This record gives sequence, C-alpha cells and structure tokens, in this order.
Amino acid sequence: MSIASTIAEIKQSLPENTKLVAVSKYHPAEMIAEAYEAGQRIFGESHVQELQQKHEILPQDIEWHFIGHLQTNKVKYIAPYVSLIHAVDSMRLMEEIEKQAAKCERTIKVLLQLHVAQEETKYGLTIEECEAMLKSGAWKALNHIEIAGIMCMASNVDDEVQIAREFATAHKFFLHAKETYFADQPNFCECSMGMSDDYHIAIHEGSTLVRVGSKIFGQRVYAN
Ligand SMILES: *Cc1c(COP(=O)(O)O)cnc(C)c1O
Repeated sequence: MSIASTIAEIKQSLPENTKLVAVSKYHPAEMIAEAYEAGQRIFGESHVQELQQKHEILPQDIEWHFIGHLQTNKVKYIAPYVSLIHAVDSMRLMEEIEKQAAKCERTIKVLLQLHVAQEETKYGLTIEECEAMLKSGAWKALNHIEIAGIMCMASNVDDEVQIAREFATAHKFFLHAKETYFADQPNFCECSMGMSDDYHIAIHEGSTLVRVGSKIFGQRVYAN
C-alpha cells in the first residue's frame, strides 16, 4: 500500500480528537515529503542529528515531535523549532528545556514519559515518581515549558489484555494528574500512546496521539 493510502486508512480509524504522529525516523526525507503531499503534517523523530537534517530541507510548516530519549546536551539544537517533546522523564531535562526555550523566547510543550510496561528500561517515570515530581511543584517555575500531558509505551508482547491494562494505567494517571495539578490548564490534554502494532488498543484506552512508523513507511533499515 502507498504511504498516502496507509495514512488515509489510519486517520479514518482514529477517534475525532486523536491525532496521527507519523514516525519517520531512519526513513529518508523523500518518504516524508510523500506523506506531506498526502496532507500529513505531524512527524516524529528520535535522533537529534537526523531531525536537524530533515528539518532543514523539508517544508517549514511541519510540526516536528521529538519522541525518543533526549540527552540534555542536545536540547539546544532542537529548541528553536520542535513542537512537542514526548519523552521527558526528569526535572534535570525539564530544566534544560526551560533554559533553551527561554533563549529562543518560546514555550516548548512536553509530555511526561511514564514507565508502565513490564519490561526493564531506564527511561520513564514510574507512576509514583511522576506523582512525586508533580507534587513538588518545582515545574511551576518553568515558564517556558508547558506540560501538555503524558506519554507511554506498552510492553512489546502479544497479550492484548496486558497491553490494554498498561495503557489504561497510564490514562488513569493522566486523568488524575489533570484533575489534581492541571485543573486550570486546558492544554494539559494529550495522552501519547500507541504504535504500529498497538495503536488500535491505545485509542480504546483514551490515546490522543498515536505514534505510527513502520505501518506507514515500512521496516526501518538501521545503517551503522
Ligand atoms: C520508533 C517509535 C515509534 C514507532 O514505532 P512503529 O512500531 O514503527 O510504529 C513510536 N514511539 C516511539 C517512542 C518510537 O521510538
């Protein structure tokens, strides 16, 4: 199937307030241009250097989302133009984003990455850690950051019940955080959940942003 028809098919299956992030990492700019021609405007990348190169040559009205693990020393490169940083999991990273956003005189939207999967990973905040961070209130002083919601990845398993349970846990925390810490902030509204293999489950559990890569662009080729 063509890139355009896959995008159309995915968009048709999404609820009204759920958006598609086309994950273009490792795929060439030509394929992004093809998706752009088909009307897609939000693209997700997970490597700073690759994003830099693509941002330079592709249309300037693309909304670039950074979806991978972001090192603090690289924030400065994407701060001038990035629309949303999905995987923020420490105050240290938030403070660096604040600093770089201030330099660019802009406000950068971020999502807090929750670790809800069974798998071991050093990335993401547990529900308890995220609660503690929000409770501390230190983030309120970061005037160039807007916390716009949460992001998570489910376990890479076949068990759809388990996947649904993990998304549900993240969504429940999202609602709790919204009510408890962001009641006066309508922009805390995003729940970034779901990839090629599990976005159909994620939309049932309240996802507002699905991050779909290989289903649109095919298998990634990892050169090294
Ligand atoms: C690569 C990636 C995706 C897309 O994965 P696919 O299985 O190709 O859809 C989504 N989210 C994150 C955080 C990723 O790194």
